[in-house]
Amino acid sequence: MRALNPATTPAAAPAGTPLQVWLIPVLQDNYVFVLQRGRRAALVDPAVAEPVRRALEERGLQLEAILHTHHHSDHIGGAPGLLRRWPGAAVIAAAADRERIPLQTRSVAGGDHLEVLGEPVEVIDVPGHTRAHIAYWLPRSGHLFCGDTLFAGGCGRLFEGTPEQMHTSLQRLAALPEATLVWCAHEYTEANLCWAAAERPGNREIRDRLAKVIDLRRRSLPTIPSTIASERATNLFLRTQNGAELGLLRRSKDGWRGCST
Ligand code: ZN
Ligand code: FE
Repeated sequence: MRALNPATTPAAAPAGTPLQVWLIPVLQDNYVFVLQRGRRAALVDPAVAEPVRRALEERGLQLEAILHTHHHSDHIGGAPGLLRRWPGAAVIAAAADRERIPLQTRSVAGGDHLEVLGEPVEVIDVPGHTRAHIAYWLPRSGHLFCGDTLFAGGCGRLFEGTPEQMHTSLQRLAALPEATLVWCAHEYTEANLCWAAAERPGNREIRDRLAKVIDLRRRSLPTIPSTIASERATNLFLRTQNGAELGLLRRSKDGWRGCST
């Protein structure tokens, strides 16, 4: 039997049911994030539809909303297929990217406050990787979905923005509470920290974090989520004083050929 449309029959979840967040690895190194409360689900950046649809159906979940951080195909590609299965789901994305992110039912901008699965969500403008990139912060439960802006140990490439814009965007995220869980959209952590360790050979915190990350990856485990505290301590891009400094680091990382280990 096909599940009923969540728009007309919200799946009952007792009051106080906690919000859970988990991830689905897809493509080469993308993560799709699932927000779940009882049988209700929302997704951040579904790159593809099929494995995500299967994961939700296996757990009997009803999709209520899709949130996009930016327009790249590895962040929006799954939306049409998922909407065929759950046509009532909302699609939330940047108003400034209406032409490049189709199917939007709620167009948002930095500073907007929303509710997803009964959870307060704040939109933060984080241009740099693309000109209209946004992040979603859940202040009550302490989750951050930052797409390709802040990575564990790194930051996104500057496709459409300046180093100054990325610096400002990263500082906005760095100002969030230390315990905030950082769900970034790619598993780039090992390469980022390898580069950072080579860039700052004397930095013990970076070296220790890299060792932990290598161990996780050897066991095929995700290194996500990170925390704002960990990024403040070991992410060189977050620790820059200005755009010029960030630009130099970004060029160094862009030219980095990887670790020999
Ligand atoms: Zn991207
Ligand atoms: Fe991406």
